[in-house]
Amino acid sequence: PSPATAALIKQEEKFGAHNYKPLPVAIKRAQGVFMWDVDNKRYYDFLSAYSAVNQGHCHPRIVKALTEQAATLCLTSRAFHNDVLAHYEKFVTELLGYDKLLPMNTGVEACETSIKLARKWAYKVKGVPENQAKIIFAENNFWGRSLAAVSASTDPTAYRDYGPFLPGFKTIPYDDLPALEAELKDPNVAAFMVEPIQGEAGVVVPSDGYLAGVRSLCTKYNALFIADEVQSGLGRAGARLCVDNSKVRPDLVTLGKALSGGVYPVSAVVGDDEVMTTIRPGEHGSTYGGNPIACKVGIEALRVLEEEKLAENAVRTGALLRDELKKLSPEVIKIVRGVGQFNAIVIDAKYDAMDVCLRLRDRGLLAKPTHGDKIRFTPPLVISEEQIMDCVGIIKSVVEDL
Ligand code: PLP
Repeated sequence: PSPATAALIKQEEKFGAHNYKPLPVAIKRAQGVFMWDVDNKRYYDFLSAYSAVNQGHCHPRIVKALTEQAATLCLTSRAFHNDVLAHYEKFVTELLGYDKLLPMNTGVEACETSIKLARKWAYKVKGVPENQAKIIFAENNFWGRSLAAVSASTDPTAYRDYGPFLPGFKTIPYDDLPALEAELKDPNVAAFMVEPIQGEAGVVVPSDGYLAGVRSLCTKYNALFIADEVQSGLGRAGARLCVDNSKVRPDLVTLGKALSGGVYPVSAVVGDDEVMTTIRPGEHGSTYGGNPIACKVGIEALRVLEEEKLAENAVRTGALLRDELKKLSPEVIKIVRGVGQFNAIVIDAKYDAMDVCLRLRDRGLLAKPTHGDKIRFTPPLVISEEQIMDCVGIIKSVVEDL
């Protein structure tokens, strides 16, 4: 790293907790698909802040919504009404076709809220005996870092030394309908929470028919189907929601990340009245959840996705990216997979994914390995075909030089 970058890294190491291992690059500015480091070197962003920046960095319309609202009214808390939340709730629920929205801030909060909703529903509607509700998860799920989230995790790095864990959770293999059915036979199951495509696990796409199977099994056994769309939703998988690709409608959907286009923490759970009204006043909340800035930003971020047809662009540019990556050396790139602009490559064990990412960085493209041999390629959805070809050129040159 340059002296300026090295100094920042050193200072973070001294004064910050070491709960991340960033790629050694320090960004100071970004616009659209590009980021610039502290030495003004330009990079393509192939991570998009874990799919938060689907609309492109610093989207002018979203930034304007943020700054205008910030100068007018930032926070009332939910102790009082504000003049934005009602419009935001109407806008999002009408767009997604659900009765109600519960606003939170981060993805993990939305997911945890959906589990609280599922437990309440189990006791109040389904009739599960007190404290017996069970929630099913898929192995290799990732939905954040809270104690509930790590209690559901099968990744030792996420849960080790954080016990004791929350009871009432069970994990089953992903993409395995018989395993799900076996669990759902227990009448105390409240819900199955699943990512329509597993993100952190390395963009794992389930078999055709899996999500439709989840829907029909959850209906058959009267359990809620919770789709964690925090990463897969909002254009990333080439559709408004990833589940739209399978034409299924979950009972609850969790959203985050791109719900703000990366400018502010905004998350939500949407669902229908039967579930959403089980939580009564005073039983759940968040000081910042549903604040006026978040609501204005959320509306604008969704409008940009729709009006700029970013899901459609993700379909087109994602297919181009995968087609081009498949032409590169199969000695290095073992697997190219993905849907829309939600992609990953798996590289041969001979090569080190971190080393590949450092070489990509040197040539002006930023990506991050996940779980050893996988590299996620998830650029902002505003990327053009020409820019995709430029990026393929960068990736090709790195692959050929390994
Ligand atoms: N759910 C999924 C599918 C995610 O990928 C993530 C984060 O990567 C989360 C939930 C948690 O979101 P946050 O980091 O905003 O808490």
